[in-house]
Amino acid sequence: MPTGKVLVVEDSPVQADRIGEVLRGAGYDVTFASDRSSAQTQLVASPPDLLLLSMVLDDGSGADVLRFRKVLPRHLFVPAIILSAQSDLAARLKGLRLGAEDYLGKDAHPEEILARVATMLRIKQLQDDLRDANEKLELLSVTDGLTGLYNHRAFQTRLREEFGRAARYGGPLSLVMIDLDHFKAINDTWLHPFGDKVLRETAILIRNSLRDHDVSARYGGEEFAVLLPHTPFASALPVARRIARAIAGHLFVVDADEPGSQGPEVSVTASFGVAAFPGGDVTTPETLVRRADEALFRAKRAGRDRIWAYGGDGEFREDAEPEASASPPPA
Ligand code: GH3
Ligand code: MG
Ligand code: MG
Repeated sequence: MPTGKVLVVEDSPVQADRIGEVLRGAGYDVTFASDRSSAQTQLVASPPDLLLLSMVLDDGSGADVLRFRKVLPRHLFVPAIILSAQSDLAARLKGLRLGAEDYLGKDAHPEEILARVATMLRIKQLQDDLRDANEKLELLSVTDGLTGLYNHRAFQTRLREEFGRAARYGGPLSLVMIDLDHFKAINDTWLHPFGDKVLRETAILIRNSLRDHDVSARYGGEEFAVLLPHTPFASALPVARRIARAIAGHLFVVDADEPGSQGPEVSVTASFGVAAFPGGDVTTPETLVRRADEALFRAKRAGRDRIWAYGGDGEFREDAEPEASASPPPA
């Protein structure tokens, strides 16, 4: 049984009935529009899989509908077959020039109508499959396979986009670089699959510490990058602290040898580097990354499990979490 939703746009009720009957008889889901404006409304509100279109309509012409089809979202491909009187060569040519995929005489034999419709719906299906496959590929090309975060390349793209926007409006934009501590030892002690699990769960902890429009990426092996749009330096530090607490407070459970028994629990810490635009000498995406990376390097050198930041005064310093922030402000 063929399936597909066909919109018949035809101002002659007799013609519409005839074609509708043929299509419905074959099992298609058929809707009708008798004029240009209701055809356009239906194209947007409930897009059909195929358009059968008369070139002469009361309130305009099939040409208007074909032109309108071009402004539909790009992912929406609705093929069109023009319905024309066999003698009307000019209307047919006009329709084809405006991008209609095929034409059909109004008095065509039912078998021919069904054959053309089936062919066009097959092409439509192929086109949709291609679009879906492309969307999947596009998603894969920006996604890190292990963690589901943006990969390094996608991060670079988003960094440039966000920096461009920030530069136009004067910022702010913050960057937090995160590197897990002694990760090689975790792999060596608990083996690689456990290391992978730590990376996957860390990605979730990071994601859960962020707002929707923040950008999180796996920057490299056990290194993550978080881009905070519209966020000044002073608000980026609490985000870094929140992520640090989430990671340090999480117990990563090693798979037990015996099913049903509990494996050892492992704690992991991370080191952080924070930089912001505007701030110090940061004027490009590259300097933003370099300064955050240098701050991270200092956090490592100072003993790990800490946050270092490149401040607006151009100095690097360790983030000393203000004790006062936990108590209410003085009256
Ligand atoms: P530091 O505290 O200085 O950051 O020490 P570290 O051991 O974390 O850093 P190092 O750069 O010496 O080692 C990083 C390790 O991360 C080595 C590498 O095998 C491991 N790694 C990178 N990618 C993956 C991955 O996808 N899965 C696992 N399990 N390990 C990874
Ligand atoms: Mg590391
Ligand atoms: Mg590293």
